[in-house]
Amino acid sequence: MDIDFSKDNGLVPVIIQNNNTLQVLMLGYMNLEAFNKTKAENKVTFFSRSKNRLWTKGEASGNFLIVKDIQIDCDNDTILIKAEPKGPTCHTGSTSCFKEETAKGFLYDLQQTISDRIDTNDENSYTNKLYKSGINKVAQKVGEEAVELVIEAKDNDADLFKNEAADLMYHYLILLKAKGFTLEDIEDVLESRQR
Ligand code: AMP
Ligand code: ZN
Ligand code: ZN
Ligand code: ZN
Repeated sequence: MDIDFSKDNGLVPVIIQNNNTLQVLMLGYMNLEAFNKTKAENKVTFFSRSKNRLWTKGEASGNFLIVKDIQIDCDNDTILIKAEPKGPTCHTGSTSCFKEETAKGFLYDLQQTISDRIDTNDENSYTNKLYKSGINKVAQKVGEEAVELVIEAKDNDADLFKNEAADLMYHYLILLKAKGFTLEDIEDVLESRQR
């Protein structure tokens, strides 16, 4: 990897992302020595500008950042590291040094599309038609799709199973919308149950 350490006194900014959620955890700096140590130990080591020395994140707290992937940007002057955090990354005890916000994937795009179809009362939309037929209808569809998924679970057709799983998820999102909730609300519940 050809990193350009020539710009800021030999320091390059390093963005740390949670390997699973893609949440941005913190930003630090590396010199060549820190980068080599990080690669050798598979654990993030920065060059701390305040300590003026190599700083292995977690050296005192045990909250190490285990390296899963290293990427260099288009002009080789910024590093992006996906890592598995062994504990809260911020010294305040927060998961991230930035305001809590997990990167969101396709499901959240779909949630937004469903919400838009309904909020604009789109006449050509199946989503909106189902929604307008009432909460009982929407809930019933979720039940039907769940049963179809159960049936496919007993079968061995991967495509059918995946399609029913998708049907269930899609109708589940409509039901959440009909009840005035979002995936984020459900995530909060699931998160509060984690040990
Ligand atoms: P640690 O590397 O987690 O063992 O923390 C050692 C020291 O580094 C802490 O006492 C803080 O001064 C500092 N520190 C830890 N985490 C961060 C962070 N995310 N950003 C800035 N400084 C930090
Ligand atoms: Zn760049
Ligand atoms: Zn912090
Ligand atoms: Zn189905």
